[in-house]
Amino acid sequence: MTNEQALTLFRESGALLEGHFRLTSGLHSPNYFQCAKVLQYPRHAETFCKDIAERFRGEKIDVVISPAIGGIVVGQEVARLLGCRAIFAERENEVMTLRRGFEIQPGEKCLAVEDVVTTGGSVKEVIALAQAAGADVRGAAFIVDRSSGRAQFEVPFFAALKMEVVTYQPEACPLCNQGIPVVKPGSRKV
Ligand SMILES: [Zn+2]
Repeated sequence: MTNEQALTLFRESGALLEGHFRLTSGLHSPNYFQCAKVLQYPRHAETFCKDIAERFRGEKIDVVISPAIGGIVVGQEVARLLGCRAIFAERENEVMTLRRGFEIQPGEKCLAVEDVVTTGGSVKEVIALAQAAGADVRGAAFIVDRSSGRAQFEVPFFAALKMEVVTYQPEACPLCNQGIPVVKPGSRKV
């Protein structure tokens, strides 16, 4: 899938909005992106996850591991396509942990999967968790890399789509200067 095809899917499913938004960080942006809105359509999840599965099929992955919550849907679909297990890690006292009886056996070939990477912090944590269990982590994969190249990993990594993030400090926002009303994503005005 090309970047333009992917962006079209995001726009059509309402995952990518264009306008003038106040993000959770307080910064303003001409875009708002919510990956879950495209993944609510299983056929779209399959489309993106196919790219990831094909990239890592030759690695004979035993288990896909994802950070909760955003990564779970992606991990499940990638594992379905690869014919392997899918497990997820979640925070317990702020530390990424395997709960629910999930286990990784020493030597298992593991792929870390996430929906969106901005800093890569959660993915690095699940890689470290898998390695501590003795896994052979063969790679990391994401639907969208929004890090503009800043997220780097010690294992081979792949993003189905790269998306630049444009943000402005509110006092230096050109959209504010044009008098365009700013909206908070999720509000009825959007
Ligand atoms: Zn603004």
